[in-house]
Amino acid sequence: MCAKYVYYFGDGKADGASKLRNLLGGKGSNLAEMANLGLPVPPGFTITTEVCTYFYANHLTYPAELAAEVKNNLSRVEVSMGRKFGDARDPLLVSVRSGARVSMPGMMDTVLNIGLNDDTVKGLAARMGERSAWDCYRRFVQMYGDVVLGLKPESKEQIDPFEEIIDRIKAARGIKYDTELTAEDLKQLVKQFKEAVKNRLGLDFPDNPEDQLWGAIKAVFGSWNTPRAISYRQLNKIPEDWGTAVNVQAMVFGNTGERSGTGVAFTRNPATGEKVFYGEYLTNAQGEDVVAGIRTPQPVTSLAHDFPDIYKQLTDISALLEKHFHEMQDIEFTFENDRLFMLQTRDGKRTGFAAVKIAVDMVAEGLKTKEEALIKFDPDQLNQLLQPIFEPSAKQEAAAQKRIVAKGLAAGPGAATGKVVFFADEAEEMAARGEKVILIRMETSPEDIRGMNAAQGVLTARGGMTSHAALVGRQMGKVCVVGCQSLEIDYEKRLMEVGGRTVKEGDDISIDGFTGEVILGRVDTKPSEVVQVLISRTLDPKDSQVYRNFAELMKWAKEARRLGIRTNADQPDQAANAVALGAEGIGLCRTEHMFFGGDRIDWVRRMILADTVEERKEALSHILPMQRGDFKGLFEVMDGLPVTIRTLDPPLHEFLPHEDEAVEELAKQMGVSPDLIKEKVTKLAEANPMLGLRGCRLGIIYPEITEMQVRAIFEAACEVSKAGKVVKPEIMIPLVGNVNELKLQADIVHETAKQVFAEYGCQVDYLVGTMIELPRAALTADQVATMAEFFSFGTNDLTQTTYGLSRDDAGKFLPFYLEKKIIPYDPFITIDFDGVGFLMKIGVDKGRSVRANLKIGICGEHGGDPESVKFCHRLGMNYVSCSPFRVPIASIAAAQAALAEKQEMFVDK
Ligand code: ADP
Ligand code: MG
Ligand code: MG
Repeated sequence: MCAKYVYYFGDGKADGASKLRNLLGGKGSNLAEMANLGLPVPPGFTITTEVCTYFYANHLTYPAELAAEVKNNLSRVEVSMGRKFGDARDPLLVSVRSGARVSMPGMMDTVLNIGLNDDTVKGLAARMGERSAWDCYRRFVQMYGDVVLGLKPESKEQIDPFEEIIDRIKAARGIKYDTELTAEDLKQLVKQFKEAVKNRLGLDFPDNPEDQLWGAIKAVFGSWNTPRAISYRQLNKIPEDWGTAVNVQAMVFGNTGERSGTGVAFTRNPATGEKVFYGEYLTNAQGEDVVAGIRTPQPVTSLAHDFPDIYKQLTDISALLEKHFHEMQDIEFTFENDRLFMLQTRDGKRTGFAAVKIAVDMVAEGLKTKEEALIKFDPDQLNQLLQPIFEPSAKQEAAAQKRIVAKGLAAGPGAATGKVVFFADEAEEMAARGEKVILIRMETSPEDIRGMNAAQGVLTARGGMTSHAALVGRQMGKVCVVGCQSLEIDYEKRLMEVGGRTVKEGDDISIDGFTGEVILGRVDTKPSEVVQVLISRTLDPKDSQVYRNFAELMKWAKEARRLGIRTNADQPDQAANAVALGAEGIGLCRTEHMFFGGDRIDWVRRMILADTVEERKEALSHILPMQRGDFKGLFEVMDGLPVTIRTLDPPLHEFLPHEDEAVEELAKQMGVSPDLIKEKVTKLAEANPMLGLRGCRLGIIYPEITEMQVRAIFEAACEVSKAGKVVKPEIMIPLVGNVNELKLQADIVHETAKQVFAEYGCQVDYLVGTMIELPRAALTADQVATMAEFFSFGTNDLTQTTYGLSRDDAGKFLPFYLEKKIIPYDPFITIDFDGVGFLMKIGVDKGRSVRANLKIGICGEHGGDPESVKFCHRLGMNYVSCSPFRVPIASIAAAQAALAEKQEMFVDK
């Protein structure tokens, strides 16, 4: 059997549907799905993503069978519509639409009204009137010229030749909107557009509908590889080889007059998650008019009044689609002379707030199961619920000072303050220098996404809740205010007028993504509702719907996951925050962080610079009570939960003074000469400190350091345990490469424990384990495990040592590597599964081969990265540990991994 490259949909049925999503792309498979549901979808067909892959693998050519398959399917559309493509009396027109597996809003091309020329336009005019027909024709020539013939300028600074012509005619006629153009104007436009094509490209505009169709198909496949599409895929981790499908679909017309129109809507509010039909439409309009922000669209609620039948149908369809897809939908529709057509549906992008609310509501409404809700949830979106919001008193103050100068639509919730910047590339540059910026544009377009990503927030003058800025902003989790009509932006002068004030590039500005307010200057922030409930405890849970939804979701995650979630914390308040957010223990307490506060660093320095063991012990004896106090604080907060404490790890050099002033001060304290200190500091310097005297090597060369730290831990443990709390210390030895290193350190731990327990007349259960952060430790994990009661993968160092790559120096080449795809992603963010991950697997397997109940976790930064968390689950680890605010995110990721595993088991059977 030969491959099938084209799938038909229409007339209440379709060749393919969601099962074929990878072949048909998101748009195509959902069009098929809607057709199967009996919804009014104009008939059409989908050319598969395989053709795209073929196209790029074969010098931009198609499989031999494609032409015939397209022809056959086009005939089916002709039969269904009762019109023929290219027929001068009553022509069928089609759209050619892109559609990748996952939606890439506005990234790729679509051409509408294909099949028009000077002959067929007459047939169309006979059907819908001169003006509408010529409106279609000029739209077609413009779109075809822009997209297929490539006249659309690369950047917004260049002028679109067609827009220039339209502006000229509008100016000459003294009109503002496209809808005011007469049939005669439109005819003029078509003529001038075609002349522009001829002048620019030296070629005649293609009149043959067949050529137009194939030209458009090729352009859509071509749009998969435009720079903006590539950069979108990089940002969103979409594989290059997925390709796009092409949908060819019979045109329906929203531009035939005041009883026609086009709109986009969400089945629920995408900013808040509220269950209301939400969106915008324009009468006498086509295609992207609503999102392009040319005319200000009307809210769909006014359909209820002006087009009650359409409104009723749409709300019924919304309910049906949600029931079918088990997800909030984002739809495109058109009505032609009071008849409704559905043109697209897809899972709607939403803010983190909306995502949580919709998940919880839909489960309550029986539209999906908890498992589905968890699996579909993007864990990173929880970040938004933990981000600060504006302090109400600071907002009041701003209001009193008349600094709230404008109000737009609240498209992406949150509080953002930064410097005004009007250009995306500058936003990117400034952010790279560490500045916080707010990107302000008339409206955004796909080439702005990098700048949007770099900004704290995005503010636009035009466009509605479904505009590009709103859509992309929501997806990125950006604070976003759109359609703020009172902004008068002057790109050339790099300033804007708003509320009678002039705001220049570089000025401070704040935007409130909950209310849409634009505020001059900075505004103080305060913690989010979730943080207020859980951490500062200044808000009662019953007063926060946001919190209650969050808590519900976290409860489901806890029920579903197998991995434990711990946190990296070394201060009691951090630990308490993490526990409030769901942490079940401390996976990494870095003792050296405790060495800096107050005058501690002085004793640490004296300890390091000591000439004799006695001197060192003297210094350590001053540090001991401080560390004991720290550990007590942690143990009290963590009552009953395990606390993994790592002995001293960094190279000693990091603690020493380097500035003259600090050297002199220390010299004075120690009663020695500054030169002597400098000499010692120089002596301690290493060529490669990350591979030098650090980790367990320190505790082996200076056993008294380990002894002091462990004593502090056990003394604290005894004191807290005597006070009635449960203490579970886990002593972790860093940077072990050879089991003998661990043995030496473990001996010190056990010996010290024995002494302290005897002194205190008290016994506390504890574990001794090690970090696995050197390849040799992973490779000899069976030996290491004979001495270790637990392993914790230090994936930061393990990545550095596996790759032979210093994170501090990687900035010079890693970005280049990523850009050139020499390596697929940043291994410091997501575990390098093939290399580092393989070592981890060896470590887990070998470790458990000699100690079946070996407790295994991870404490590198990767512990908060969803993909890495899932990997840890698959390796069979016991827990991941991450920073306090990543705990909820790791929890969701862990639940997803467990649920995915369950599904796989189900499929296998
Ligand atoms: P995108 O993926 O950028 O949304 P689409 O393929 O959905 O691009 O098309 C762009 C616009 O054109 C949308 O508003 C869509 O509803 C409209 N459109 C596409 N095909 C048709 C058609 N056959 N009839 C009427 N409008 C169409
Ligand atoms: Mg669309
Ligand atoms: Mg390390």
